[in-house]
Amino acid sequence: MIDPFGRHVTYLRVSVTDRCDFRCVYCMSEHMTFLPKAELLTLEELDRLCSAFVDRGVKKLRITGGEPLVRKNIMWLLRQLSRHLGTGALDELTLTTNGSQLARYADELAAIGVKRINVSIDTLDPEKFRKITRWGDFAKVEAGLKAAQKAGLAIKINAVALKGVNEDEIADMLTWAHGQGMDLTLIETMPLGEIEDDRTDQYLPLSIVRARLMDRFTLQDIPYKTGGPARYVQVKETGGRLGFITPLTHNFCESCNRVRLTCTGTLYMCLGQEDAADLRAPLRANVSDDALHAAITEAISRKPKGHDFVIDRRSARPAVGRHMSVTGG
Ligand code: SAM
Repeated sequence: MIDPFGRHVTYLRVSVTDRCDFRCVYCMSEHMTFLPKAELLTLEELDRLCSAFVDRGVKKLRITGGEPLVRKNIMWLLRQLSRHLGTGALDELTLTTNGSQLARYADELAAIGVKRINVSIDTLDPEKFRKITRWGDFAKVEAGLKAAQKAGLAIKINAVALKGVNEDEIADMLTWAHGQGMDLTLIETMPLGEIEDDRTDQYLPLSIVRARLMDRFTLQDIPYKTGGPARYVQVKETGGRLGFITPLTHNFCESCNRVRLTCTGTLYMCLGQEDAADLRAPLRANVSDDALHAAITEAISRKPKGHDFVIDRRSARPAVGRHMSVTGG
């Protein structure tokens, strides 16, 4: 699949549920309205849809949400999808999780061929963790991390940099993550969906974080790539890798290789634009995949050049109305 700007689309991110057992303050509002279950694609439909994308050249599948591990029978879907690893059609099957259910699932994930996972943790302070996630229990996530490491899964910690919340902790998180053999990636908060807080208060440019880290650490740019949007440095003092995802201070759209599928079968060709394609109708219309492939081709031909995120006091509304939990982070 090649889009109008000559970019190869080889990475599909799939949100398998919009529900989550956390309510992170920058991600969701406290009282979210979730989709009725009847709206959701079945796991069989998700398998068929993802497999159609693999047929079309997708090499990397990331399962996300909401919280993917709270979807009932999610391991069935992951097991099904792992057959594409076996045939070599897929290079990587991975997931992004908040870690709350990892203690239960880590062994099985490793057994079906998942090699690396992203775990989202914005603070190491259990009290602050509760405040940011509203509902999360840090001890449970820690147990999940231990189980994942024991199972042999490589872990990347994802942390959203939040002004006045975790900015004083980022150096410690770096030392902690690298001390345990985990990569760390920092993310700028993006204006997605209405939340209670003011995003201008939360937004911390990673250019500032990077400059501050350079007072303590030696950061060397490296060409390391995981197929995602992060740019990496090697930290000399810790020997670990640190990634920066900078949708605001440094737009990375020119190398975008991704599209995102929601749990209702809507395909978003860009995280930061409203345009979308309905793949559920062609999926359900026919037992053959012809109509589905035609719809995918048409959608890819509409992939936009990029997003135009802005966070400042003049733009009070988010760039797009839907939350990250809908599109899949
Ligand atoms: N529940 C899983 C998790 O916690 O990783 C997967 C879904 S979550 C939406 C995926 C990632 O998106 C998390 O790392 C989260 O911190 C991040 N995220 C959510 N809303 C965001 C926003 N407005 N800006 C930047 N990152 C966001």
